[in-house]
Amino acid sequence: MATNERVQCLIIGSGPAGYTAAIYASRANLKPVLYQGIQPGGQLTITTEVENYPGYPDGIQGPDMMINFEKQAARMGADIRFGLATKADFSTQPYKVQIDEENWIEADSVIISTGASAKWLGIESEQRLNGYGVSACAVCDGFFFKGKEVAIVGAGDTAAEEALYLSKLCTTVHMFIRRDAMRASKVMQERVLKTSNIKVYWNTDTDEILGDKKVSGVRFKNNKTGEKKEIAISGFFVAIGHRPNSEIFKGWLDMDEAGYIKTIPGTSKTNLEGIFASGDVQDKVYRQAITAAGTGCMAALDAERYLSAKGLH
Ligand code: NDP
Repeated sequence: MATNERVQCLIIGSGPAGYTAAIYASRANLKPVLYQGIQPGGQLTITTEVENYPGYPDGIQGPDMMINFEKQAARMGADIRFGLATKADFSTQPYKVQIDEENWIEADSVIISTGASAKWLGIESEQRLNGYGVSACAVCDGFFFKGKEVAIVGAGDTAAEEALYLSKLCTTVHMFIRRDAMRASKVMQERVLKTSNIKVYWNTDTDEILGDKKVSGVRFKNNKTGEKKEIAISGFFVAIGHRPNSEIFKGWLDMDEAGYIKTIPGTSKTNLEGIFASGDVQDKVYRQAITAAGTGCMAALDAERYLSAKGLH
């Protein structure tokens, strides 16, 4: 395996966790190299207004916030690169990570901040019509359905937020909820239920998305009565949660059954010394920008202490 570079601190991922780790690691003179992954800025780049990140009393758009994070990390001296970590070899130190399926980079410490990705329902029509009316991001694609009818599946905060976003663009938003209750926070539930053009369907599963070359309708089923119905829609949004982006670390790092990387409570330490995890890839409970940033800070401090103790810094 040819390696052509060795760094003290490699950061993988460019959400709030990765950039915060980069800010702290740069200021500690660890000369971090950060690879952004396929979605520079992470999940917040597909969000609208962020109202709950302290320091922004008037709120801020998610993409703007991530540009600020990146600028701040760059100003501190982080080496920010476009590239995707495609393989890991943690068998010996320094640790090795492959970028874009070609170059290997060696690192004395690694901070994993690869976040989580959207989940899909897994039905055939969803895959076939993806990009042709099926989307997992209302903020990215809602505009295409201005003045039209759409449906959304999910009942968490993401689904609630996206349904509200779509309600401002679309004539009617049909919201399919598989139980008789929503998981979303009370305030978000209230907003959804008070919005006159969001029509909530309880105990409802998506049977099939209809359409040949693009979405023209959806068939759904009441899972209590078995009754099936069809409605005409132009867009179908999936907002049913996320999966941690930890695939390439399987076999090396301890994870839970869903693939979230396990860290020692109160730290960012994984089961391998010198490898730290921060943000949504290790957090299925809080999953907020502020908690991701907090754990990114912890990871950089843990990396600095580790490198100092090892005489590598
Ligand atoms: P969640 O895991 O919280 O919710 C997923 C939702 O999708 C649940 O209602 C679940 O139903 C439903 N679901 C899952 N699989 C299926 C399926 N196959 N068919 C139909 N429905 C399905 O994910 P979110 O992305 O909504 O939120 C993730 C985290 O981020 C949460 O902690 C949330 O609070 C937070 N968040 C916070 C925001 C904010 O503060 N502004 C904004 C967005 C997210 P069921 O309830 O039956 O399991």
